[in-house]
Amino acid sequence: MDYFPIFLNLRGRDCLVVGGGDVAARKVGLLQRSGAAVTVVAPELGSTLRALAADGKITHIPGTFEPAQADDRVVIIAATDDRAVNQAVAAAANARNIPVNVVDTPDLCTFVVPSIVDRSPIVVAVSSGGVSPVLARMIRARMETLIPAAYGRLAQLAARFRNKVKQRFERGDDRRMFWERVLQGPIPEMVYAGQDKAAEAALSQELDTGLGEHGGAGEVYLIGGGPGDPDLLTFRALRLMQQADVVVYDRLVSPAVLDLVRRDAERIYAGKERDNHAIPQEDINQLLVRLAKEGKRVCRLKGGDPFIFGRGGEEIETLSEEGIPFQVVPGITAASGCSAYAGIPLTHRDYSQSVAFVTGHLKEGKVNLNWEGLVKPRQTIVIYMGLVGIDGLCHELVAHGVSEDMPVALIEHGTTSDQRVHVGTLETMPGIVKREKVSAPTLIIVGEVVKLRDKLDWFHPVQAQAVN
Ligand code: SAH
Repeated sequence: MDYFPIFLNLRGRDCLVVGGGDVAARKVGLLQRSGAAVTVVAPELGSTLRALAADGKITHIPGTFEPAQADDRVVIIAATDDRAVNQAVAAAANARNIPVNVVDTPDLCTFVVPSIVDRSPIVVAVSSGGVSPVLARMIRARMETLIPAAYGRLAQLAARFRNKVKQRFERGDDRRMFWERVLQGPIPEMVYAGQDKAAEAALSQELDTGLGEHGGAGEVYLIGGGPGDPDLLTFRALRLMQQADVVVYDRLVSPAVLDLVRRDAERIYAGKERDNHAIPQEDINQLLVRLAKEGKRVCRLKGGDPFIFGRGGEEIETLSEEGIPFQVVPGITAASGCSAYAGIPLTHRDYSQSVAFVTGHLKEGKVNLNWEGLVKPRQTIVIYMGLVGIDGLCHELVAHGVSEDMPVALIEHGTTSDQRVHVGTLETMPGIVKREKVSAPTLIIVGEVVKLRDKLDWFHPVQAQAVN
């Protein structure tokens, strides 16, 4: 290890920054975030520092740097573009044994400023020892995605209970076990989901009743896994997928998305092929209840968004009736994913002012939709589950007044490397589907907006072939 990492308490202590430009301003900002009293030496200040000086937030010493200005500082940063000045600052600091950082000049530094993820009071610092700041920043960016934004609030909650926990458990080992149990249980998720009051109550209760026993209530995360491309998951979906004990997933969840679930989580397939439900809906609802009651963190993973043709509502209704904690994580619905990856905006000022999402699912061999309500000028129609009933769908739309020439796109396996986009009209689409041996899942877009694809098509997966 080339550098010894520490976190300095600078609150109210004197720090010196030499330089008045943008880089200096960034360093000043960082020092101020930790409460330092900052003096800036520079002949002139840039606009940011000038405003701070005018507000009395920093002390400005106009002029060039003189070694005596280094006296009694706790930390010194040189941020000028003049190497001679930077060297003089480093020399003055070294003569006084004061830690010094010279921006972008590792050989003059006695400390480096890390890339940070600030979830105060939790702070993660990453350093490459000045060798590759870009690499350190990339690691930082990854940490940003992994550490929930509300981590700081979680730490503050823990701080509020610190003394009570100390009184409750005399032995340090017991305290540690208590915190491990609490922080790996459902309470942190309550904080991340903005339910701070519930989290506080749960922690109080845990303190009153929990005796270091393993267990506690489970919970359910109803997660939208998006249309297929795993990059389209939200940070929250990914985090919950990685901490679940068991995952109950649908047929539409792509293998690439399922791959991101914690490796040792139990996997239960809940199926739902057309007319061949692997587990009836009622049983899925009960299964979720049973798993949660066993104390498990259950990830209920669905394709797209759980609240769009996903029966997510029914599943959490049962959970709510049973008093089981749950949260819902939205996903990118097939309409958004497919339209984006096919280059077909769903609305457009020239072509469409509204968009309707409908299901083309057959009931007793027929598609039953409110055709009159659906067939409106300047409205895009997005049809989920429409492949089997495509003939009837196209026929009914024409029968209700839409032109036979109305453009239609059918997107097969949207957002994945198997994506194919078929473009035709209400008249030609049924024939295209037969000829091209189209397979589910597919999404159908009907409307003038389909014409935009000619210009906006951008996604070309290696295996894909566009069929027009
Ligand atoms: N909750 C899901 C929809 C479930 S209904 C969502 O929000 O997307 C299932 C239908 O979604 C399929 O029949 C198909 O019409 C559509 N669908 C889901 N994923 C798709 C994909 N990758 N490509 C095309 N259509 C998809």
